[in-house]
Order: sequence, then structure tokens, then C-alpha cells
Amino acid sequence: MEGRLTFLGTGTSMGVPTLGCDCAVCTSADPHDRRLRPSALLRWNEENSNGGRERAVVIDTGPDFREQALRAGLRRVDAVFYTHAHADHILGMDDLRPLSFVAFREGGPIPLYATAETAEVLERIYDYTFSPQATYPNRARVQLEPLAERNRIHGVEFLRVPVLHGGMKIAGFRFGNAAYLTDVSGIPEESFELLEGLEHLVLSALRHKPHPSHATVEQALGWSRRIGARHTWLTHIAHELGHEETNRALPDSVRLAYDGLTIPVSVSL
Ligand SMILES: [Zn+2]
Ligand SMILES: [Zn+2]
Repeated sequence: MEGRLTFLGTGTSMGVPTLGCDCAVCTSADPHDRRLRPSALLRWNEENSNGGRERAVVIDTGPDFREQALRAGLRRVDAVFYTHAHADHILGMDDLRPLSFVAFREGGPIPLYATAETAEVLERIYDYTFSPQATYPNRARVQLEPLAERNRIHGVEFLRVPVLHGGMKIAGFRFGNAAYLTDVSGIPEESFELLEGLEHLVLSALRHKPHPSHATVEQALGWSRRIGARHTWLTHIAHELGHEETNRALPDSVRLAYDGLTIPVSVSL
């Protein structure tokens, strides 16, 4: 089954341009150097006896989610997967509201797949949505669901791939021949087995200078070689990395992703 993976945002937590910064990348005229907060959208046509329908899963709803959904023409969401509960990955959850009303009329709330740790933060921040006492009538019709090792959404299996983000163990995801790993500072040995035979690997790479909770380009290149995917796409990029200049120095199989980039993926197992 064919799917399409769209990079809704490829920037680091502060976005690029970064507020108040006049550096070459933040003032660049190249649209590839404008990066919203990190998020991805997977779409596929579900094949069933009714002739099929387009399905859409979002990974992380950061503070730019509304703008990203508008750009991508997103009209329905079947599920959201969360990698972890840092602000740049969750603060757009409330913008699911109008789409959740559509989903609710069609059958039920939008499932949000999250680890217990992530769910706890979401419940605290969005108390008016999740609390059993919530009375706000226009709250998002969403429902937290535990993130299992494998979660099946309308014929596509999302495999959880644990990665390290500083001292936290967070979630990456594999679907068919592609994987999305963001905010990575380390990959546990067991996770490499889940990443065999990939066509497309999405991996975060912040900049060249080391950071305690994010990989450098150099580290990402090392994992990319070991995993051996045909294509590696770097995301969660800070303003230290200019699109053109950085791409020129990368091996052919590795490229910086950019906002709006869509790649074809096979979502069947
Ligand atoms: Zn992040
Ligand atoms: Zn800058």
C-alpha cells in the first residue's frame, strides 16, 4: 500500500528564523531555510470493499500545527502519535478541535497515542479537555490511548521505536519501509533491529556543535550508515545549518528535509 509522508515542520524547538536573530540562515531568502516546529503527516488510501478512503496520521502537534495543517490541506485526522511531551511537540494539540468535531460526527474522538509519561503532561496542560469534570463545550473530542509496541490504524501498523532524548526514553515510529525518529541523542541497541530494511529514515540532527539531548549532523550520519536506509532525511534543524550549504557537504543518500517536502513511502509491512 502506497503512502505519502509530508514534513509539516523541520525546525528545532525555537523555529527558524529564530526570534531576534540576524544570522545568515535566519535572514536567508531561500524558502528551505524557513522551518516550523517538527511534525510529520502520513497519508494513505485505505483499500477496502467500499472503494477506499484517504487516511491521515499526524506525528506530534507542535505550536505551528494550525499553520501546518492549513498548508497541507488537512481536513481530517484519523490519529495522532506523540513522540514526547516537550513544548515544540505538543503545544498545538488544541488546534485539533475543529478536525475532532468532524471525526466525532463520523464516529468518535480522535485517538492520541502517547506513553504514560507523555499522557500525564497532556492531561495536566489540557486539563479542560481531559479532566472527567471538564465542562467546556468546545473542548477537543480526543482520547488518550496507550502507546503499545504495535498500533494498527486503518490497515497500517505503527511500530514504536524507543530512542534516547538526553535522559528521557522517547518514542520513534516505523511504518512500512519508513521510520521517523526525532529528538534523538542516542539509539538503544535493541532499536536497531526494528530499523532493518528501511527505504526512508527520518532522523533529527540539530547542528554541528554537540548538544546534550540532540544529535549532531556527524552523529546522525554515523547512525544513518549503520541503519543503511536508501535515503536518510534530517529534521529538527537549528539555524546553524543552511539548507544549500549543508546539503552540498552531505553524502548523496542523506539530505536535509524541508517544510512541505513529501516523499512516497510503502506503508504495508
Ligand atoms: Zn523537539
Ligand atoms: Zn539565526
